[in-house]
Amino acid sequence: SLHDALPIYYGHHSKADLVKVLVTGGAGYIGTHTVVELLAAGYEPVIVDDFSNSSPEALRRVAHLTGVESPFYEADVRNRDVLERIFIEHNIHAVIHFAGLKSVGESVAEPLRYYSTNIDSTLVLLETMQKFGRSNLVFSSSATVYGNAGTPPFTEDLPRQSTNPYGWTKAMIEQILEDVVATGHGWSITALRYFNPVGAHPSGLIGEDPNNIPNNLMPYISQVAVGRRKQLAIFGGDYDTPDGTGVRDYIHVVDLAKAHVAALNHIEHPDVYKVYNIGTGIGVSVLEVVAAFEKASEQPVPYAIVDRRPGDIASCYASPDLARDELGWEAERSIDEACQDSWNWQSKNPNGFQD
Ligand code: NAD
Ligand code: UDP
Repeated sequence: SLHDALPIYYGHHSKADLVKVLVTGGAGYIGTHTVVELLAAGYEPVIVDDFSNSSPEALRRVAHLTGVESPFYEADVRNRDVLERIFIEHNIHAVIHFAGLKSVGESVAEPLRYYSTNIDSTLVLLETMQKFGRSNLVFSSSATVYGNAGTPPFTEDLPRQSTNPYGWTKAMIEQILEDVVATGHGWSITALRYFNPVGAHPSGLIGEDPNNIPNNLMPYISQVAVGRRKQLAIFGGDYDTPDGTGVRDYIHVVDLAKAHVAALNHIEHPDVYKVYNIGTGIGVSVLEVVAAFEKASEQPVPYAIVDRRPGDIASCYASPDLARDELGWEAERSIDEACQDSWNWQSKNPNGFQD
């Protein structure tokens, strides 16, 4: 692990020394939760974010929760000068790369912005790491690279594909990472394919705070429960699933954050590119999520079943075995716990970080 590798960098110092991890997109939903878990595990995060989809308040909350104010750079990851400055000012041992745009619908309307942001930021990051001789990277990939082929549970060996520009940026970046590792120049790169991240930190201090009308199910439901929106539209009630609504693999964001710590702890061998599904392995339907949320919040979640959303598939869930066997990581939190934590966050912060 990186801790075991410490003597290389720190000479005589002990294993307990902190290891600096650059977290791009560290002010975002998954980034903030990961920063909390990194600090708990003894890592020292250094954060870069341009606040294009987040706010300074999220970082203030992380500092409040952890008692640590991590070094922060407000910049676009494509800004090579700032990125180089970070590597000059900090002895960065590994990078977790969250920064990027993530809305499927937006990516269809603005493909160039998506390809530019997601791919250019990754290229500038890799080039800067190469320049400074830094070779350990964990990348945020997505179950979207399974596209609409195959049947769940999805295993990592399926070919990468996609149905939209956002998904293609993830598939293309995975290809780039694989090619970089294949140079044999000592890179060690792990791509984590997240299924559906949900929930919030149990403190209620941080959580998901979408800018506009939420695209995703859980934030939409919680805004209905808190009274910000009238009712949920369920996209399709005639899928070939047990209750006719779409089935997904909802992974609690704290479990997901811990998967990044597990991935860092397992960065051992150079010239290895690894891909892991990060999910629970359990398929849950839209109606089951609604029921779990109503129970957790003790609020009604009115809904109407409407047409299918273009591009959606009936069912998507992970085979989580590889991450369990190789990283020693497993999801521990249920959908009920995720709904409780989402509700705790939403009811304490009805307007997200704006309050
Ligand atoms: P998020 O939008 O909350 O976080 C991304 C952060 O990156 C934001 O704080 C944003 O301001 C920042 N950012 C965006 N472009 C940047 C740039 N060019 N330079 C610097 N900062 C930039 O999203 P999230 O849900 O936390 O997702 C994190 C990563 O995980 C993304 O790469 C996303 O594609 C991936 N992912 C998310 C999901 C999901 O459903 N949330 C699923 C699979 C994969
Ligand atoms: N969904 C829905 N209404 C919404 C948002 C989502 O019925 O307002 C459904 C969607 O069709 C899918 C599931 O909820 O079956 C999860 O969708 P989400 O957008 O959260 O994630 P995806 O799996 O599409 O990435």
